[in-house]
Amino acid sequence: MPHPIVRFAPSPTGRIHIGNARTALLNFLYAKKHHGEFILRFDDTDVERSKEEYAQAIEVDLAWLGIAPDRVLRQSERFALYHAAAAKLRDAGRLYPCYETPEELDRKRKRQQARGLPPVYDRAGLALSASERAKLEAEGRKPHWRFKLDHDIIRWNDMVRGASHIDCASLSDPVLLREDATYLYTLPSVVDDAALNVTHIIRGEDHVTNTAVQLQLFALLMGPERLPAFGHHNLLASASGEALSKRTGSLSIGGLRDAGIESLAVAAAAVMTGSSVALHPIASLEELAGPLDLSQLSRSQARFDPAELTALSARTLHGLSFEAVRDRLAAHDITGHKAQPFWLAVRGNLAAFLDVVDWWRVVEGEMTPVAEDTVFLAAAAEHLPEEPWDENAWKNWTEEVKKLTGRKGRALFHPLRLALTGRETGPELAALLPLIGKAKAAARLSGRAA
Ligand code: GLU
Repeated sequence: MPHPIVRFAPSPTGRIHIGNARTALLNFLYAKKHHGEFILRFDDTDVERSKEEYAQAIEVDLAWLGIAPDRVLRQSERFALYHAAAAKLRDAGRLYPCYETPEELDRKRKRQQARGLPPVYDRAGLALSASERAKLEAEGRKPHWRFKLDHDIIRWNDMVRGASHIDCASLSDPVLLREDATYLYTLPSVVDDAALNVTHIIRGEDHVTNTAVQLQLFALLMGPERLPAFGHHNLLASASGEALSKRTGSLSIGGLRDAGIESLAVAAAAVMTGSSVALHPIASLEELAGPLDLSQLSRSQARFDPAELTALSARTLHGLSFEAVRDRLAAHDITGHKAQPFWLAVRGNLAAFLDVVDWWRVVEGEMTPVAEDTVFLAAAAEHLPEEPWDENAWKNWTEEVKKLTGRKGRALFHPLRLALTGRETGPELAALLPLIGKAKAAARLSGRAA
């Protein structure tokens, strides 16, 4: 296969959510797997609703997910291309002015429905004579512009859904330009996909109908021999089945990040939910790219359960290598020769990455111990072995304390854990004790802060 070129094309009108991340990742992973190019294109022709701060936040969110675009561009910088395409369509008689107000269109639709007809635009605009148009404009009406569809059946072999078709006779001629001469999404998207030589358009199945329209536009603007392939994936919905919304901020990537969810867990959930693969932790995006097969995505709605994500995030952390987190640990001043054994000791106990800060304090910082059983603890402190300590120090020591005091099980271990770590539960003390070291251990067992 020649190197594919794909794009993720969000409108910067809000923060992206996990459903948008699904689209972004499916594109990015497809490009990665096939050594292609991934373009981030901001569909910001709606200048009222698009905001630069959202565009920037989307870039940050994608970077956090591990998605590095090969190119970033903004439609708001490319209007000349869209004007030229609109002129071409107008000249070909395929873009025509319409003067109905939204209320008039609504009344038409209601009349059609009352008569049992599909609510398809009646092409009244196309039937207007030059003088009728002049009269409407003299009344102060401004036209919006519709694309005159060929009433053909448009067919494509969808990368996800297989053989697909739409009868364009059942569609209204789509509006490409509004009254105020701004562009709706449809035309700029095709113009850019053509100009950027996009080879595969992978997006949500809410765009299936658009594909029929856009295939007609592609054929008109570039000729039928250079049509891209299309894949429409199922959409992620909330656990209760509601659609996710960029505007309400539900399950936004930024929100998940702030809640301490691992980015690899978000990526795994975004891609695996609603696929044939059971949700499981991954150690890198490559693990998702390798087995990616769009034709294996389920056709039914994929419900996304945030509780599962929290659990997946913890499991993801438990498997991360030291190399994978070295920089993140360093950002919390967790460095030096203890950093790696520390990570390996505590990772299995983390619910969220930030928990490392508390555990590092147990190892390196000062902590007031919980000394419940002072006589027993003092005896245990007496028998701490000489350093250097390795992973056997804990076993050797507690066996001795056991002989000495006759205690075993919880009665032996629980007071030691509480005194040494200040907590009821936590990582294996065999791994933690050598990191805490003798001086701190002795002080804490004696009830002193250390
Ligand atoms: N801006 C469009 C959207 O966010 C892009 C759709 C497409 O991928 O063509 O829905």
